[in-house]
Amino acid sequence: MNLSSCNLCPRIHSYLKTIKIKFPNYHCKPVPGSGSDKSNICVIGLAPGLHGANKTGVPFTNDFSGNLIRSILLDVNLGDVFITNVVRCYPQNNKPLNIEKNNCQQYNLEELTRLVNLKVIVTLGEIAYRQILKLYNIPLKSNKFKHDNVIELNSKIHLISSYHCSKLNVNTKKINKDMLKKIFLKAKEIVANE
Ligand code: URA
Repeated sequence: MNLSSCNLCPRIHSYLKTIKIKFPNYHCKPVPGSGSDKSNICVIGLAPGLHGANKTGVPFTNDFSGNLIRSILLDVNLGDVFITNVVRCYPQNNKPLNIEKNNCQQYNLEELTRLVNLKVIVTLGEIAYRQILKLYNIPLKSNKFKHDNVIELNSKIHLISSYHCSKLNVNTKKINKDMLKKIFLKAKEIVANE
């Protein structure tokens, strides 16, 4: 299945059509990952924000989470970073169904396989974390989600798990800029030491 014409999720597919009527200048289609295929680091969020990536067609742009994460990436000066989401379409209420999450695994595999120099995956939020563990056949039972934890996915790739950088998580003080900076400094260190 080709991502730009993907219609594996009927619920989301028809929902995006109704959003497009309300917001005709919005992208309202699957949002592919963005960045260089040579990147050592990949950041993976949940799904496009309604007025963010769903509008622009570029992950983590034009909304609170996007502005926050991109400002941190600049501060930490990581160089090339590939940015994507485990679910590539905006789902109702930002809550994808299990089947929808799993339908997108083929695109997660496709994008991650393309990143030939990949050394670190930073997952934002527990849903992204679970989907990536599943993709690499790592058991969740013995690897419960924890903020700021490092897991070896295979001999080349480490995963660092982070809380999501959502407005809700920032407002409730679950996460802040310094905590996120620490995650990306750790990613930088892993890349430097590999
Ligand atoms: N924007 C994205 O692209 N992904 C998120 O998870 C949140 C905002």
